[in-house]
Amino acid sequence: MSTPGRLLDINRLALDKIETTADGGLKIGATVRNSDLAHHATVRRDYAVLSQAILAGASTQLRNMATTAGNLLQRTRCAYFRDTAMPCNKREPGTGCPAITGSNRTLAVLGTSEHCIATNPSDMCIAMAALEATVHVQGPKGSRAIPFGEFHLLPGNTPHRETVLEPGDLITHVTLPAPIKGSKQLYLKLRDRASYEFALASAAVVISITGQNVTRARIALGGVGTKPWRSQEAEAVLVGQPATGANFRRAAEAALRDAKPQSENGFKVELAKRCLTHALQMAVIG
Ligand SMILES: Cc1cc2nc3c(=O)[nH]c(=O)nc-3n(C[C@H](O)[C@H](O)[C@H](O)COP(=O)(O)OP(=O)(O)OC[C@H]3O[C@@H](n4cnc5c(N)ncnc54)[C@H](O)[C@@H]3O)c2cc1C
Ligand code: SF4
Repeated sequence: MSTPGRLLDINRLALDKIETTADGGLKIGATVRNSDLAHHATVRRDYAVLSQAILAGASTQLRNMATTAGNLLQRTRCAYFRDTAMPCNKREPGTGCPAITGSNRTLAVLGTSEHCIATNPSDMCIAMAALEATVHVQGPKGSRAIPFGEFHLLPGNTPHRETVLEPGDLITHVTLPAPIKGSKQLYLKLRDRASYEFALASAAVVISITGQNVTRARIALGGVGTKPWRSQEAEAVLVGQPATGANFRRAAEAALRDAKPQSENGFKVELAKRCLTHALQMAVIG
């Protein structure tokens, strides 16, 4: 939990615009509301996976208030992190991780460490990982652009550090590259109930097919990783191969090859494989 000495309201900064960029991509301001982003005509048409992912998250009321930057920085739903009566390395470094021997059904199987196994809870970020977004930051030392895959950190032995942001940094906007013409996109989210629930496993796929073969694939998984989980292993299995169910399953096997299940969440490994396989099939069917 954070106990800041001072809170700044950034709502009146002019960071609430969605604009096309000179290279044909999209610039999304940090305070753009999740609902506005999901329903934006360009996003629905060219970045459908992002629209679908946002609309799969939270509730209408929350999406109407939640911002792009806030969603990027939302913290884990691990119950011990939220219970200040419990130890937690993420909340209080060095106190331990009770989830490893305790309740871990919803927690991560990829990117974990002996110090933390918390899942990144975002849906929006999974789509942004597959779309190869860039996070733009302004800080005391100037501005910088951070490729999406480098923005969130693995827990390692510093689980309290979740991103590369430094004190004083402000996220100003996120950019998406120009859309890939003809790409098929899909976000599939599997959860305990059909709405208002975090993912047990999810998959964002952006795939291009020429003839029978996959020519380009960008894949990210949610609900299973300690950060939004881009799977270049799965992408490598697919590219150059026919777009068949058997190859989609092989890609899913590759994506989960390094999974380390805990006492209660072993089911996530197969669930995530089926989620990705099914997402690829649904994307291709169109
Ligand atoms: C009950 C519930 C269910 C939810 N379900 C889902 C779900 O299924 N899927 C999903 O993806 N999300 C879900 N969410 C998350 C929700 O969509 C919001 O993204 C999340 O709550 C963050 O809120 P916010 O955007 O208002 O950010 P805030 O709470 O305003 O900010 C979050 C953090 O980011 C910092 N911050 C904000 N803007 C900036 C900036 N420009 N630069 C630097 N730092 C900044 C803030 O200081 C704060 O530390 C859920 C949330 C709740 C409460
Ligand atoms: S998994 Fe991470 S957030 Fe959860 S108790 Fe362990 S250290 Fe804390």
